[in-house]
Amino acid sequence: MILIVDDKPENIFSLKKVLELNKFEVDSALSGEEALKKILKNSYILIILDVQMPGMDGFEVAEAISGYSKSKDIPIIFLSAANTDVKFITKGYASGGIDYITKPVDPDILLLKVKTFHRLATQTIELNAIQKTLREEIEFRKQAQAELRERVQELRSTLETIPQIAFTAKGNGELEFVNQQWFEYSDQEDTFPPSDGEENYIQTRWEEAVAAGKPLNIEVRLKKLIDGKYYYHLLQASPITEGDQVVRWVGTFTNIEEQKQVQQKKDEFLSIASHELKTPLTSIKAYMQLLERALKKDETRTSEESANYLERTRIQLDKLHSLIADLLDISKIESGKLEFNKKEFEFEPLLENVVDIIRQTNPAIKIIRKGKANARVFADEIRIEQVLVNYLTNAIKYSPDSSEVHVCAKVSSDQLKISVKDFGVGIPKEKQEDIFKKFYRVEENSHRFQGLGIGLYICSEIVRRHKGTFGVKSEEGKGSEFYFSLPTIS
Ligand code: ADP
Repeated sequence: MILIVDDKPENIFSLKKVLELNKFEVDSALSGEEALKKILKNSYILIILDVQMPGMDGFEVAEAISGYSKSKDIPIIFLSAANTDVKFITKGYASGGIDYITKPVDPDILLLKVKTFHRLATQTIELNAIQKTLREEIEFRKQAQAELRERVQELRSTLETIPQIAFTAKGNGELEFVNQQWFEYSDQEDTFPPSDGEENYIQTRWEEAVAAGKPLNIEVRLKKLIDGKYYYHLLQASPITEGDQVVRWVGTFTNIEEQKQVQQKKDEFLSIASHELKTPLTSIKAYMQLLERALKKDETRTSEESANYLERTRIQLDKLHSLIADLLDISKIESGKLEFNKKEFEFEPLLENVVDIIRQTNPAIKIIRKGKANARVFADEIRIEQVLVNYLTNAIKYSPDSSEVHVCAKVSSDQLKISVKDFGVGIPKEKQEDIFKKFYRVEENSHRFQGLGIGLYICSEIVRRHKGTFGVKSEEGKGSEFYFSLPTIS
């Protein structure tokens, strides 16, 4: 809308007509004061302002307009009696477009000027709108960037707190952040830690995953800088996408050495167990065949021979029985179904009985008893006997060059402690804490001695379930002393 300010209605009328004929919207004011009021209220794209008016003249109006932020940019065409006035006007109205027309007004010139200003004003409005959207866009991007930076920072802080080795990479696979754990395996932050086996294995698989934009999931062995040993790790990396573009990768290396070892132990166990089960079965089969043959022979010799084969078969059957019993115990422990039939009893007779049986079955071994187990306990007799037998048979088994075993009993105010000492192969210091773990066998001796690595684990579980303690003292090459204690009843 165009505002015409003139104190003479006839002037306004003629100007208005010219402009309206040319499809301009026009408003008018008969004084400077009225003009100012209207300018504050409405939006104009051009003001045609008469210089000479009673009261506030054109200059004063222009000066006032230039003071309002809303109107300071509206262009003005002054209508003046002489063009010398204009120099004066420009001082007061520095910003915004300005022009003048001398009176009497030539309608063609007026139209030309109005059209120019109108076009300029329209363009300015459009430009302003574009500028506004651009500014908003910039603001939005700035905010998005700040949020992204914040998120990346958050992610990094999180990655610092996890126990795994963690990293992030750009969409193109270039590493951009690694956490502290990384430096346990690598002294370079921009390349993957070296792994065992194929050269550059991780880097190659990583590049394949990045090229395909697909998650990576592989097992690798990383060398720890501090001890130079290799540890199994699971490398998992996932792409983070925006739309269909990968913008970042987040990855971790999780130490799976322990799981791997358990898995390996389990596999070994299965192969040893099946072998151990098969051996007595093969012997039993052979003795049965011999027995069959003997029975077909002449009678006097047969009964003696048969008894011999039957005895050997029984020994093998006992072996099988104890193996299967151990296997069953393991599965009962695993499923939480190992049950105890506890009652009160005197310990000494039980101990003496077990020692007697072991002496009979191992006549070459001298079992020396020290101290009496004169105490009452509340326990499962059969299970405690199992622990004693296990300790004693191990002491004999792992002492191929010694024929002496000491069994020591000590009773204190509320505890009974039994220890079985041998003078055999012993156990290296660093392996002693693992000895009671499931499937654990000391590697150095595993080829020399048969076994499944479950006996001590079952013992430890039995003693633990009786609120007792257990352990071992040993020196490699000199012998071992296995002990357990049980609470006594006063
Ligand atoms: P197994 O004897 O069937 O292997 P155990 O659970 O009884 O299983 O024992 C676990 C491991 O502990 C054995 O493999 C052996 O290496 C070690 N061990 C047990 N007792 C002794 C001992 N008295 N002297 C030396 N090593 C022993």
